[in-house]
Amino acid sequence: MSDRELTALYEEIADCPNCALARTRTQTVPGTGPAPADVMCIGEAPGAREDELGQPFVGPAGRLLDELLGAAGLSRESVYIANIVKCRPPGNRDPGPEEIAACRGYLERQIALVDPKVIVTLGRFSMAAWFPGESIGRIHGRARRVDGRLVMPMYHPAAALHRGDLRPALVADFQKLAELLAQAPGGGPPPEHSGEAGPAAAPAGAAASPAPPQAPLL
Ligand code: SF4
Repeated sequence: MSDRELTALYEEIADCPNCALARTRTQTVPGTGPAPADVMCIGEAPGAREDELGQPFVGPAGRLLDELLGAAGLSRESVYIANIVKCRPPGNRDPGPEEIAACRGYLERQIALVDPKVIVTLGRFSMAAWFPGESIGRIHGRARRVDGRLVMPMYHPAAALHRGDLRPALVADFQKLAELLAQAPGGGPPPEHSGEAGPAAAPAGAAASPAPPQAPLL
């Protein structure tokens, strides 16, 4: 049922005119993967290759993501993968706050359909949707419970391709993800925090309100 609903959502996204990115995209890149899925990875925005193929995380960053997932005992086919915005920003610029806000409803609906145990945010824009005002260098690899789901921020694989010194941290964080999934086969440890932060709470680039205190689970 969720697969059918996802397909219907993809069809809706394909015609979306809700922000300026609609004018420059080749096609929308809604996401890929099964629903439900234990793990949902959420990146930032499609790049040139993604825009061309309509698939998220293809090319070198996608290959590194596949490797990292594999090291954590996960296949790409078992994980749901999407981005904060579904259309490519021209020239691969960062997505703007108004674009993130315009696309937010689609992400919320995807999360509801995929119903992941763990959301992995990849990169600072995705992280900021759950943890506004935080620094990725400070909180990466630390899973926290937000609105009943575990959310684990990580560096974006593309960042590790540009900065090799980030790669060990990314590898270690995916190992922590594997440990987290192994520890919580039935749905995870008890709630640590029921926060107001969520993809709807604070788009990246919006005025940052302090995130409520949350205890990391790993
Ligand atoms: S980025 Fe999202 S809101 Fe903007 S046009 Fe694409 S699908 Fe619509």
